[in-house]
Amino acid sequence: MNQNSFRSLQFNVSGIGFWLTAFAIVWLLGAVGLGWLVKSFLILIGLIILAPVVAFVGFRWWLKRNLVEAQCPVCHYESAGINGMQLRCPSCGEPLKVDAGHFQRLTPPGTVDVEAIDVSVKQLEDS
Ligand SMILES: [Zn+2]
Repeated sequence: MNQNSFRSLQFNVSGIGFWLTAFAIVWLLGAVGLGWLVKSFLILIGLIILAPVVAFVGFRWWLKRNLVEAQCPVCHYESAGINGMQLRCPSCGEPLKVDAGHFQRLTPPGTVDVEAIDVSVKQLEDS
């Protein structure tokens, strides 16, 4: 019991000692005329701490604005994409484009059929 309280006391003293040393170094630097060094060091530390937070918040804000969850127009499979992005439906493989919060088919309906007719006509002409 006594040993434990002694240990925590020692820990507290060493903690205070650390802060005293830090303050002494800061005061010494300020006295020598290197206060700007301390300030720029603190600003640097602040930037290092803030940069990831700002990046994370900015990324979340951007994602919230641009992330689209919608259904595939072909098979109605629910998936997510980024606005303006082109992707393939994970369920049916249809090429899709994310536009104004909805998925749109890259190939308008009917295009494939027309192309197929063209090919068959060509084949007939060739043979
Ligand atoms: Zn689909």
